[in-house]
Amino acid sequence: MTEKLLTDKQKRYDDIKANYFEITENIAKAAEESGRKSEEITFLAATKTVEPEFINYAISLGLKKIGENRVQELLSKYESYDLKNADLQFIGHLQTNKVRQIIGKVSMIQSVDSLKLAKEISRQSEMNKLTTDVLIEVNIGREENKSGVMEEQLEELIGEISLLKNIKVRGLMSVPPICDSKQEICKFFDKMYKIFIDISTKKSDNVYMDYLSMGMSEDYKEAILCGANMIRVGSGLFGARIYR
Ligand SMILES: *Cc1c(COP(=O)(O)O)cnc(C)c1O
Repeated sequence: MTEKLLTDKQKRYDDIKANYFEITENIAKAAEESGRKSEEITFLAATKTVEPEFINYAISLGLKKIGENRVQELLSKYESYDLKNADLQFIGHLQTNKVRQIIGKVSMIQSVDSLKLAKEISRQSEMNKLTTDVLIEVNIGREENKSGVMEEQLEELIGEISLLKNIKVRGLMSVPPICDSKQEICKFFDKMYKIFIDISTKKSDNVYMDYLSMGMSEDYKEAILCGANMIRVGSGLFGARIYR
């Protein structure tokens, strides 16, 4: 390897390290500001397009959760992740016909938005003699071409999913619309938190509202202040994504 490449790589490691500690510090501050402990906030790294060596480097720094978006990419990287020290989740849009390929490989699927998908997750989990944790994705901005269930259909969907044997609802997830201001995005975060609390207080069988997953690189601090207890940060940790 040439010297230039080596120094580029070293710089990437250094950046990831600096970013990792900056993010964990920001999480602690936002947690404290919202009356919680930093341990109550789960930091998941969104790892799409990132090579396993950099993902594993972040894990060596203390990162405990990683999330992939695409089944194909997850499978191609699967053998390389350091899964002894971190936990792999699926955070992207999942097609029903691909469920089979990731059951047993991921500890949680964050992006369930239909009964059809949930049924297939439960069916495949049963065949593998396990139960899969899921979050229900809410289309909080009511965007036409985006995944997620509309809020008025959420309770019915959760009710139906709660009857499936090999699936466990653990909370909610959302990707709000791109906003021009922090104020605007906070309206969506607030709305999600309210829905999360509403459902938590209803306490249905087989439904656990442990996680409210929202907030990405640009807005994870605001998300925590609005009540998120899981954030998904990609470029803020690993640098800008390069799509090949
Ligand atoms: C890519 C991605 C993220 C992280 O986005 P960044 O802006 O890079 O932090 C979070 N959630 C989902 C579902 C993603 O696909």
